[in-house]
Order: sequence, then C-alpha cells, then structure tokens
Amino acid sequence: MEMLVLDEVDEVVDLPPIAGVRIPRWDLGALGPRTCPLCHSTNRASLRRPDALPVAYCRRCALWYVCEAPSDDQVARFYDNYWGGHRPAELSAPSAAQMMQQLSVEGQLPSVGGYERILPKLAAALGGLRGKRILEVGCGYGSLLLAARLQGAQVIGNDISGDAVRFLREQLNIPGFDVPFAQCVKEIGSVDAVMMVDLIEHPTDPVCLIETAWAALRPGGVLLLWTPNGGAAGAVTSQAREWLGFRVDLEHLQYLSAATVVAIASRHGWAIEHLESLGFPDLATVAYRPPKRSVVARLRRFAYRSLPRTRVTATALRAARALRRWAAPESKVDASQGVYNLFAILRRPT
Ligand SMILES: [Zn+2]
Repeated sequence: MEMLVLDEVDEVVDLPPIAGVRIPRWDLGALGPRTCPLCHSTNRASLRRPDALPVAYCRRCALWYVCEAPSDDQVARFYDNYWGGHRPAELSAPSAAQMMQQLSVEGQLPSVGGYERILPKLAAALGGLRGKRILEVGCGYGSLLLAARLQGAQVIGNDISGDAVRFLREQLNIPGFDVPFAQCVKEIGSVDAVMMVDLIEHPTDPVCLIETAWAALRPGGVLLLWTPNGGAAGAVTSQAREWLGFRVDLEHLQYLSAATVVAIASRHGWAIEHLESLGFPDLATVAYRPPKRSVVARLRRFAYRSLPRTRVTATALRAARALRRWAAPESKVDASQGVYNLFAILRRPT
C-alpha cells in the first residue's frame, strides 16, 4: 500500500514578500514548466515565492528549484538591466580606489560574511595562488579577482555585463570578457581554477556551467562554488517555507544543498576538496511562519508590518555594502558562523 506523507499532499504554500525586498516582474502568462535542472525529473510545486514563481524539491538531487520558469529571453532581459537597476554601482576610478582600500596590502578580504575564507581555501587547494591562472565567471566588478591578484595570481574575469567588464579592464587593469562562458574559455585556454561566487543559482542551465568549468580546467584544477545554501531549507515544505532564501534575490532559479554538491561531484566525476556552510548567523533569528489559510487575508497585513527588516546580502554588491557596516569595530557578529551560504571546492581529477 502506498503511504502518503502529509507534507506532500498539502497545497502550494504562498510566501509573502518582505517589505523593501525587490520583486522582479515576470510575465506570468509566459512561464514554462521546468524539470529539475540537474536530473530532469518532474516534481510537484510546494511553495510559491513572492514573485509568484513556484518552487519544487527534487529528492534525487536534494535540490529546491523554480519549477515554472520565465523563458530564456525573459531571463536575459532581466539581466540586461541587472547592473543599471539591481546593482547601481558607480563604475568609476573612485570606486576602483575604494575597492583597493577595502583590501589589505596582502590582498586579504575583510573578515565578513564568510567571504574572507574564499581565497585562503582556494590557495590551500592550489598550493598557493602565486602564478596561478584563475578565471572568475560572473565576476561583476572584480573585487575577488583584485584580491587574488594582490596575492600573486594571474586573474581573468568573465561577465555578461559589458559595463562590468569595461570597469575591469579600464579601472582595474584585469583582462575581462563579456562573452558567454564557453566562448571565453575558448579564447583564454586552460586555467588552474574557475570561481563561481553567487552565480550557479542564477542560470536556467547550471549543468552547462559545471561542464564548461571542467573543460576550462587543466587536469587537477579546481572549481570553486559559493551559493545560497538551499540545505538550510530542509527537504519538506513545513521547514522550507520558513527559509528566508525563497523570499529574497528572486532571480535565483535553484538552491543547491551540500547533498546536491555531492550528487554533482559523483555524477560528473569531480573530487570534493572542500564543502561547508557558513555566513550571516544573525539571519538564523529571522523566521516567518505563514498564517493558517483561513485567516491569511486578515493576518497578512499584520505579518508584513511585524517582519524584521533584514540585511540579506547574497549578492556581491550588497555584501560589499554590508561589509562596510559589519567591519565596524562595534560589530559583535561573528560572520564566519551561520549557514546561509554553501562553499564548495571541487577538483577535476588528474
Ligand atoms: Zn534532480
């Protein structure tokens, strides 16, 4: 006899927005069904994000993902304006000078949000950074590349934003490519490391990124992944609906867990060099339980007002802003704790 788990037969849970959090306006009439982006299995939606996109869980991949998605064209249009609207960074010489000031002379990132662990772990995996060829895909304005270069690495940036890449070349003197990742790899040849920080949660086809990284790496080279930790959402709706990650940064299309990384490594032949969850421990106190359905309308207004204003900094720019706040001497937050992010280093075997 087939057993039904109560959690599985519940209706789709609507997650209300958080005040002040940006909500992308998708053409909801033009959404298409989306299978698990890793194993292509079909899974039933259990949550609906504040942007009205439904989210399903693939047990095989331990992965939450958007299961009715905007078309590739719509997603591309969203990113056309990503820098101008979502990331209104001033891409100027003073910005470059400010970025330099935030790094120590040895190229160490300030101890905030867990980001400061990225380069030491990468250095350990590569036997030091000096002379190593490191490509960052989705490099944005290049702060991580800048830090790696100060530690002696030969760095290369790849981003879909022409403005970001121009900033890299003109203000930071870092070689940059605003072409698709695969084309960039053809142009630059093999590298010792590929970094993807806050990237793999974005594309409609994350497997393509992972396979292209493999092709970019010399045998023995490493792929560094940093992404919101979908494992913090658990595997059932009752836990997942309380996870903040489904209510911020609503352009994300998949949420990897540590188990997802293990599955990817095993299916694609990577060795796991490093795997941990970390960052933003103060978010652990942010919980929201959707009200019972019968009183949703009445309570929603109250819920909006009572939600704490959060400082969610999953993207690099906001992390940089938060960094300035949290690096203040009075900060008591130990940002190396927490479970908001997932940090993995995978090695292409020799
Ligand atoms: Zn799957």
